[in-house]
This record gives sequence, structure tokens and C-alpha cells, in this order.
Amino acid sequence: MSDNAKKYRIETKCIQEGYKPNNSDPRVLPIYQSTTYKYDSAEHLGELFDLKAPGDMYSRISNPTLSAVASKIASLEGGVGAMLTSSGQAASLISVFNITSAGQNIVSLSSIYGGTTNLFAVTMKRMGIETRFVTPDMTDEEVEAQIDENTRLIFGETIANPALTVLDIERYAALAHKHNIPLVVDNTFATPVLCRPIEFGADIVIHSTTKYMDGHASTVGGVIVDSGNFDWEAAGKFPELTEPDASYHGVVYTKSFGKAAYINKACCQLMRDLGTTPSPMSAFILNLGLESLALRIERHSENALKVAKYLSGHKKVVWVSYPKLEGDSQYALAEKYLPLGASGVISFGIKGGRDAAMKFMNSLRLAAIVVHVADARTSVLHPASTTHRQLTDEQLVAAGIGPELVRFSVGIENAEDIIDDIEQALAQI
Ligand SMILES: *Cc1c(COP(=O)(O)O)cnc(C)c1O
Repeated sequence: MSDNAKKYRIETKCIQEGYKPNNSDPRVLPIYQSTTYKYDSAEHLGELFDLKAPGDMYSRISNPTLSAVASKIASLEGGVGAMLTSSGQAASLISVFNITSAGQNIVSLSSIYGGTTNLFAVTMKRMGIETRFVTPDMTDEEVEAQIDENTRLIFGETIANPALTVLDIERYAALAHKHNIPLVVDNTFATPVLCRPIEFGADIVIHSTTKYMDGHASTVGGVIVDSGNFDWEAAGKFPELTEPDASYHGVVYTKSFGKAAYINKACCQLMRDLGTTPSPMSAFILNLGLESLALRIERHSENALKVAKYLSGHKKVVWVSYPKLEGDSQYALAEKYLPLGASGVISFGIKGGRDAAMKFMNSLRLAAIVVHVADARTSVLHPASTTHRQLTDEQLVAAGIGPELVRFSVGIENAEDIIDDIEQALAQI
């Protein structure tokens, strides 16, 4: 990041950061569709293999198109470095696995994306990593009771998908730092335009770029951002970063990369070994999305608040959940962490339960029934009959996903058109 760039505001960074063309270079980020790179000498390549010289070696590990987009996202979040991954799931896995081994554990908020819950509770368990889930209403003492000498990090989502709870980032950062471990925050729904978790003490930030960053539901992807703020040496419990890596001729990441040790290890070691790298074309498409992110997320948030207000006054709607809606249980946290808006995702309950919810969805004309959320088009999902259909009505209520719950992802169309559509669909129940 240049000194100039530090002064730019987020809207400018969305456009200008990342790719910096030199004299008579292409104006637009080129797609370097090349797996490999050419060198003038064998010695230079040898130095690359020992991580002693900068440069690209092989596109599983790094590629100029990917690097440009990663550096834009690092700048947006205020981090020292970032790495793109092939999906949000890969970002979650690597963010944890980078500093956690078999026999160790992590503490995670329970209100997180279902796919992350599966990864943590089932797949990482098979890798010997235990996840201790904590709920947002637990006291500090109750959370700390879950942390022991083998705990490696605390994990949470800025705006939880689909619970829409807002993470008290400062509180969990303080808890993590008291125990010399980092806080990892999934900032997918908020995006760095609405919230930059690093400014509140988060150490690592991840995203499913599949959602608002891409913004058009066209490309699955993820990213990990390193704040550079966590002192791995002082913490004294992260030998994978502070002691020699046998797979790189004894490189010590904190010595070779300083503040960017975590992200360089993730890239040089785990991306090398796991290979969850996106294609240059995917990174190019993501970059197009990033250019309009600030505009889009502002409109998503504006439209969602209008829709939430409309719904909360409707007699066929039992409840509405949107963090920026006055009276919402998350309102105070949203005012602090999301002053500009809370993205486009809202949920609400329809009078008449499952049948009424299905009738409502089938009656929508503009809003489409999809599994995805968080893109330009308004869409709707009924968890009870889709993602959670194997549960009984009693189990659904226990999981906080009643049969009446509709998840609505408000797009960037005209808000009046979205509300008209909802109105005519509610009228048909
Ligand atoms: C979608 C999502 C993920 C998973 O990302 P993919 O790109 O689908 O792998 C992770 N976290 C959150 C909050 C999400 O919404």
C-alpha cells in the first residue's frame, strides 16, 4: 500500500487499490492465465524456493492477477496482507488450520453460517481439532471457562448468517487477547465498507467473496486478511510461526515476514499443500464486483431498512429481524459496529406458519427463490422447507428457525418495486 493510498477513503480504495499499471501497461487488471513463470537464472529460482527473493513461482501459490485483488482487499480491511481462496469455506478452514493442529481446540460463536458449523463440528473434528461453541448471551466468565492452554483462537461473524446477530468485536477481541490468542472474524455480510473488524481489535478477517464482494452471484471465492497486529512471538505459543518450518529449509515466518508472518505462512505453506486456489478469471470477476461494492452495499442497506420498516407494520407479519431496525435486539450493537447500514439480509415471520410462508414465496414475482443470499437481485429462501427441511417443527423452533421464518435478501432494485412485490404476495395469503 502506498502512503497516498492510506489517505484514500473506502469508496476510492474500492476502485483504485490493487492493480497499479506502469507507463503504457493495460489500464484494466490483466488476467494472467499462466500456471508458470520464466527466470533469467537457475539461482534466482532457487532463491524463490527458499522464500529469499520475491516473485511468482507457480500459480497454485501465487499469481499476479490474484495478488492484485488480494492487495486491494487487504487495503479495504486495513490489513498488511491477504490471500484469495477458491471459496469462503476454504478461507474458514485455512484461517483456523494455519495455527491449529490435531489435539488443540478453538472457541467459536454458535451463531455462524451453517457451512462453517459443519466444517468446525464435523470435518475439523475428524482432523483432531475440537470446537467449543459459545452463545452470544454467555458472560465473559462462561466464555473464558471454554479457553484452556490448547485453545488457539476465537471465531465469530460480524453479522451472523442467518441469525443476524451482531458480533461485539471489541468484547471478544479483549477476551482473546487476555489469553494471548487471536480473534478471527468472518466479515462476509458487513463487507469492509460497513465494518472493518481490525479497527475494533480483530486480528484475522475472512470473507466468502461469493456474497457481496462479488455481488452478482457469479463466482464462488474467499479471502483471508492478516491485520499484522497480533504479536505471535510475545504470545509465546505459536511455534508454527516462530520456529523453523522443515518444509521450507527452516524458514521462520516471524523472522522472514515480520508483521505479515501469518498470511505468508497460509500462502507459502497451506496453499502450497492444500491447493484451494481460485483461477485468475475468478479473481478478475471478483475485482469487477469490488469496484462497485461501496455503491451497492449502501443501496442494499437502504433498501433493506425500507423493507424491514414496511414489514414491521404489516398485520400478516409476526416479527421482523434486521439489526438497523429500531427496537431490534441487535440495534445497539449495530449502531456501534455498523453505523452506515447492516447489508441487505433480513428475516421475518409470517402469520400462519409453514403453509403461509410457502404461499407467500410462491406468490412473489420479482423476488426469486434461490439458495444464495447477498447479491444484486432480490431473493428469498424458506429454511424450514429447504436447508433445514429434515427437522421437525419442534426442532426448527429450538434451532431458532421457526416454520414461519422467511429469509429475504434485499437487492439493489428500486425499493418501491420490492415492497410492491411483497405487498401483492402477502395479499394472496
Ligand atoms: C456463504 C458463506 C460462507 C461460505 O462461503 P462459500 O463461498 O459458499 O464457500 C462462509 N461464511 C459466511 C458468513 C457465508 O455467508
